[in-house]
Amino acid sequence: MTKANEKHRRMELRKDIGNRIIDPPNPPPYNRGAKYLVAHACFTCNKSFKRSVENKDTKHICPQCAGVAYEMGRNFRAPRKNDKKQWEKVKRLYAAGYRFFGSGTHDGKKLPEKLSDVEQFIKDNKNHPLRVAEPINISELK
Ligand SMILES: [Zn+2]
Repeated sequence: MTKANEKHRRMELRKDIGNRIIDPPNPPPYNRGAKYLVAHACFTCNKSFKRSVENKDTKHICPQCAGVAYEMGRNFRAPRKNDKKQWEKVKRLYAAGYRFFGSGTHDGKKLPEKLSDVEQFIKDNKNHPLRVAEPINISELK
């Protein structure tokens, strides 16, 4: 048996036992512009990053702590890192199901500017156009 045959034989064996995974060719990425990037936030680091949402199944993680990066919406403006009240406000809105997109194009009330207004806002605006997700318990947000 020649060397090449032996190599081929071993390769086939590895394929059979699933030890050799052959990656399919990936289509070359092309830049679609910033349109598909959406702000994601980490509530542990109080940071936000733009990430693609083209593949809905992709879960993004925070590049700093590797925790969950939550999809906030195209119009999310991250508070300053040390602005704990504003981050708390954003977190509560997120947990209540609000997302930050299409600002000005809906006829719902403006999202509250102050943390102290959030609770009342959520009570009064259960059917707000920006409330697009099921509410979750805030303690589930890492
Ligand atoms: Zn983080």
